[in-house]
Amino acid sequence: MLFVFLLGLLCGAGASEAGNSTRPRLPSVPPLLLVSFDGFRADYLRRFAMPNLKSLYNEGVLVEQLTNVFITKTFPNHYSLVTGLYAESHGILASNMYDPVTRKHFHVSDSSDPAWWDGARPLWVTAQDSGLGTAAAMWPGSDVAIGNRTPTHFFHYNSTVTFRQRLDNVTQWMLGDGKEPGVKFATLYWEEPDRSGHHFGPDNATAMAAVLKEVDDHVGALVSELKRTGLWGRVNLLVTSDHGMAQCSAQRLIRLDRCLHPDNYTVVDLTPVAALIPTNDSQAVFALLKNCHPHMTAYLKEQIPERLHYRYNRRVQPIILVADEGWTIVETGDRLPRLGDHGYDNSLPSMHPFLAAVGPDFRRGLRLPSLSSVDVYPLMCRLLAVPPRPNNGSLSQARCLLEAERCWDVPLAAGLVAGVLLLLSAVTVLFRFLRSRRHSGPQPFQRLQIDLDDDDDPLLE
Ligand SMILES: [Zn+2]
Repeated sequence: MLFVFLLGLLCGAGASEAGNSTRPRLPSVPPLLLVSFDGFRADYLRRFAMPNLKSLYNEGVLVEQLTNVFITKTFPNHYSLVTGLYAESHGILASNMYDPVTRKHFHVSDSSDPAWWDGARPLWVTAQDSGLGTAAAMWPGSDVAIGNRTPTHFFHYNSTVTFRQRLDNVTQWMLGDGKEPGVKFATLYWEEPDRSGHHFGPDNATAMAAVLKEVDDHVGALVSELKRTGLWGRVNLLVTSDHGMAQCSAQRLIRLDRCLHPDNYTVVDLTPVAALIPTNDSQAVFALLKNCHPHMTAYLKEQIPERLHYRYNRRVQPIILVADEGWTIVETGDRLPRLGDHGYDNSLPSMHPFLAAVGPDFRRGLRLPSLSSVDVYPLMCRLLAVPPRPNNGSLSQARCLLEAERCWDVPLAAGLVAGVLLLLSAVTVLFRFLRSRRHSGPQPFQRLQIDLDDDDDPLLE
C-alpha cells in the first residue's frame, strides 16, 4: 500500500506537469524578461565581486552551472535557450555553416536568411501564437522572419546600440504605450563579457574584473529601471548566458598543415571545432587526421558521440575535429587568433554559464547545482502558460525553481521506492515462512495422496 501511495504521488507530480501545459492561459500571467550576457562563465560568480547580480539571485534562485549545448558557441546556444532544442535539431550548428543542399554559406555577420532558422520556432513566435506580444533587443535570430514572423518589437542587430538604449526600449515595450498593451515576453542581449574574454583571456584577472564590474553595473541599471517603472516584483526575470570561456595560448596550437595538404579539404569552420569537407576520399583524409595531434579528436560524422547531439543534421560536415580545452586549431602558421575561446566540449565546466532568476513565480534563496540549458525553454513556457513545442528539455528539474510547483528529488524518490519494495519483499517472505510452519501437519497426507494416485494410474509411468 505504501508503495502504491508513493507511486501515486510520483505520478501525481507528472500529471500536474501535463495538466499545467493544457490549462487555459490567465490574462494575469506576469511578463517574462530573458537577459543574456554573452560569454559569462559560471565561475566568474565565485571569482569576482558582483554585488548587484548576487543581490538579485539572493532574492530569487541561482543555478550555479547551466549545461549548455554542443558546440558551445553563441548562436547555437542562444537558439537552444529559446527553442529547448539541441543544435542538431534546430539547425544553427555553428558560427560558420555550409548547407550541402542549398549550397549556401552562413556566417554570424550574415545570418538574416530565414532558411537557416526555419528548423525551429523560437519562443517569441510560439508566444505570439498564444496571443502574447513579444519583443527582442538584439537576441540572435530575433531580426529574422522565422516562419514569416519576427517579435512584435525588435531591433536590427547593431553592436553600437548601448546597453542603456536596449534596456530603455525593452522596459517601454513591456510597459506598453496606452494604445498597445505591454509585451509578455522580452529578450535582451549584451555582448560582454564575451568580447573581453576573447581579447584578454579569462585568466587575466585585472581585465576581467574591469569588464565584469561593467556587467554588474548593467545588472544594477536593469534592476533600478524595473523598480523605477514599477515592473520589479511583477515581472519574472531570467539572467543567464550562452557559454563560458577557456584560456588559450600560443603554446597550444594545432596546425592542420602538419597532417595534410590544404588541397585535401575545404574548411567550413575552424576552431575549436573544425568542420571539414574532404576533397575526395573521406576515409583517407580522416586517416591522416585521426592521429594528427594528441589534443585533437577527429570524428567522421557518423561516429560523433550521441551525447553531443551533433550528428543528425545535413549541415554537420563529413569530418569534425574537436580541440581539447584551451587548444586552438589553425590551418598554418604560429599566430594565436584569440587569448580566450569557447566552442569546446559542453561537458567542460569552463564552457558552462549560470542562470539566475527572480520574480513572483520563483522561490527565494534557492540554489541548484546544475540544469540543462534546453530545460529553460519548457520553464519559460510554463511561466507564460504557453504550450511548448516539441523540445529536448524537461520540467522535471526546472520546476524546483518555481514557488507553486511540487519538487521531487528524483534519486531520493527512487531510493524511497526501492526501500519500500525491499521491505515488502521481506514482509512477504516472513509471512510465507510463518504460514508454512502453521500448516506443517497435513504434508505427509499430501505425499500419501500422490503415492496412491501414481500406483492407481499406469499412464503416469
Ligand atoms: Zn565569443
